[in-house]
Amino acid sequence: MAIAKSARVMSTERLGPDTLLLDLCATEPLGFVGGQYLILDSRLTLPSGKAIKRAYSFITNDAEQRRFQLAVKRIPNGPGSGFIHGLSAGAAISFSGPWGKLFPRKGESGRTLILATDTGITAALGFLNATCFASALSQTLLIWLRASAEYFLPDEFVRRQVPSACGDVRIAAVPEVGHLDRVPHVRAILRQELSRGEFAQAFMAGDGAVNQLLLDDLAVAGIPVGNENAESFFNMPKKSA
Ligand SMILES: Cc1cc2nc3c(=O)[nH]c(=O)nc-3n(C[C@H](O)[C@H](O)[C@H](O)COP(=O)(O)OP(=O)(O)OC[C@H]3O[C@@H](n4cnc5c(N)ncnc54)[C@H](O)[C@@H]3O)c2cc1C
Repeated sequence: MAIAKSARVMSTERLGPDTLLLDLCATEPLGFVGGQYLILDSRLTLPSGKAIKRAYSFITNDAEQRRFQLAVKRIPNGPGSGFIHGLSAGAAISFSGPWGKLFPRKGESGRTLILATDTGITAALGFLNATCFASALSQTLLIWLRASAEYFLPDEFVRRQVPSACGDVRIAAVPEVGHLDRVPHVRAILRQELSRGEFAQAFMAGDGAVNQLLLDDLAVAGIPVGNENAESFFNMPKKSA
């Protein structure tokens, strides 16, 4: 059973009409590695009786294990993100974690691709800020694809959160979530990057519909990838896939 942990909201900042940045302080060190996430328990329930618990990725450096930040996009009529957008300084939150297999392993190196779509940029930022990833940063390319410059986090915020040693950062627009052209567009971007040189490793976070096909493309290109190389935030791949 997941052990309940708690943290206090130290401050909040609106980074856009539907984006809240939360600065939190946990009551105990969390033991997370960048790329992982927590599951926040709103302590609310749906009319069906189901508890409203939602996953959010750590975006800050894992060298600091008590003070951390989350960035949350408000989803229209979404009870979990709506609850978080109602939090203010002084509020206590309950959560479990850390969870997730998307994090850098010690000793892995070589040219690395981190491709984030949409809100998946949070996991990418956490990953890039993992202490054990520092030596691989110079050979790393971060690509963040989202529908427009107004989507979720401002570009300048993302660039500031990326460690300065990171080899290259590209931010580009792609068709919005669910658009028929989205997956072909992202696959074309990946093909272009693969034609510029090989990657020793690749990681993806965000739209599950994109992740699933990119994993296939990377495998065909001979890059070793498994389910631990991708974290899907929504459009979850079917369990059997
Ligand atoms: C491992 C993991 C890490 C996550 N990290 C973050 C994070 O750091 N920041 C963050 O804002 N969210 C993150 N999410 C998404 C988050 O857990 C919730 O799904 C989201 O906040 C919506 O919850 P809700 O209760 O408001 O809406 P719900 O009623 O649960 O959601 C409505 C629908 O919207 C979908 N949805 C969720 N996010 C998006 C999106 N960006 N675009 C389109 N559809 C979406 C849901 O899958 C669902 O089908 C993460 C999800 C996972 C699985």
